[in-house]
Amino acid sequence: MGYFADGLLKCTSWGRTAGKITKSGVDYVTPDGIDVTIRMQPAVSGGKPMMALHSGSYNVLVAPSRLVDVLIDDGMSIALATGQGEIINTLNAPDIGLIRSLVSAPGKGMTDSDLFAVAHGGGLLAVATEPKSKIAASLRTEQMLLLPVGVFIAAFIVAVVIWLSKKRLSPLAELEIAVRNHEFIVHYQPIVELKTGICVGAEALVRWRRPDGSLVSPDLFIPLAEQSGLIKPITDQVIKAVILDLNSTLVEDRTLHIAINLCAADIKSGRILDVLEERLANTGIRTEQIWLEATERGFLDIDAARVTLAKARERGHSVAIDDFGTGYSSLQYLQRLPLDALKIDKSFIDTIGRDTATSSVTSHIIDMSEIAQPFSVAEGVETEDQADYLKAHGVDFGQGWLFSKALPADDFVAYHRRTKEKYGAAPEVIQAAAE
Ligand code: C2E
Ligand code: CA
Ligand code: CA
Repeated sequence: MGYFADGLLKCTSWGRTAGKITKSGVDYVTPDGIDVTIRMQPAVSGGKPMMALHSGSYNVLVAPSRLVDVLIDDGMSIALATGQGEIINTLNAPDIGLIRSLVSAPGKGMTDSDLFAVAHGGGLLAVATEPKSKIAASLRTEQMLLLPVGVFIAAFIVAVVIWLSKKRLSPLAELEIAVRNHEFIVHYQPIVELKTGICVGAEALVRWRRPDGSLVSPDLFIPLAEQSGLIKPITDQVIKAVILDLNSTLVEDRTLHIAINLCAADIKSGRILDVLEERLANTGIRTEQIWLEATERGFLDIDAARVTLAKARERGHSVAIDDFGTGYSSLQYLQRLPLDALKIDKSFIDTIGRDTATSSVTSHIIDMSEIAQPFSVAEGVETEDQADYLKAHGVDFGQGWLFSKALPADDFVAYHRRTKEKYGAAPEVIQAAAE
């Protein structure tokens, strides 16, 4: 520290001065009025170049290295410069060319090789630079540290997702997802003419194929589907599957029909007829080859049911009453609804050959079906005795395990081909008689 009087250095913290030492030239003035000499040779001590700060009659010499004497990361460099861009000092030997260009256009960012940032205050500029390669290396070490943590977190998330997906959804939610994912397929149970053994058609029976490949029986999901309205898109998927599976088989053999089960809502609204019309267009399949099965549940609104069934027959479909005999008012329907066939419920067929009270009901039901409708179909035929009895009592067709269980499409096509070779094709009259 020094004191000046009359333009000459009188004394310093090293002691009194001898000789005439004048104030050094001013390189710049700070905003608060201090004259700064960036580099001067101390005349008194004769030591390393120092920075001189003058205020009034006093000056202070500061070692320039002090100004950049801060703790910084390995590999980082800093530089201090005046507001005019003159470099005061540096630490860790930065690229001077880069520093010069940065002090003339301060900011922060990246060059091809370095990252940089410039800060200013008190008339000074501070520039920090670091080679990118250095940062990449430290990132790599951080990655090495973070990797195990990341793996652990990822494993945790995967475990939670598996746990959530295994958690059982409500049955309705599961069914909704199944509808959305088109998880329904159709099996075909052959319907044969009892007299000849000829396969005249099949009933389309829906199955829910779960993503794990297991098949769910319709008894387990049709009630919920009917209740929730999901049965409509399911029926649509059944129709789509029938066309996809059997289009060419149905076009090749005009005597063959497929029976589709209708839900109550569709019988009431008739919506299904337009769906069928649209889907059958351009397939070459005749409407006569699609039979429709309706249970008594669908006849609650009998006027609406009559309209739909009449329209269905007008378009060429045959209409069968399903599970016949199990409802309370079957007789009433026989008189009031336009029908082509009766499907006698399996529970009656089961009594054949057994000496039970219901077996007499069975013979009445059979008689009734014969009188009332062009066709009768016995459901759930399991034994030769049952088939013989039904034949003797004039029932036309049978469906049941005696002939075949419900088959995947390919197996049904093969079954149909086999029986055709063995017994011949059905006469077209089977279709024609329905009209
Ligand atoms: P359903 O319409 O009365 O169909 C006949 C059911 O009896 C079928 O069961 C069939 O596999 C079974 N069955 C046939 N022959 C025999 C036999 O000899 N012995 C025995 N024990 N059973 C036999 P599945 O396929 O389980 O269908 C059950 C019910 O699910 C159907 O009864 C029908 O009400 C409903 N369903 C099936 N597919 C559809 C569909 O596409 N739409 C609608 N709305 N309902 C369907
Ligand atoms: Ca049926
Ligand atoms: Ca049935």
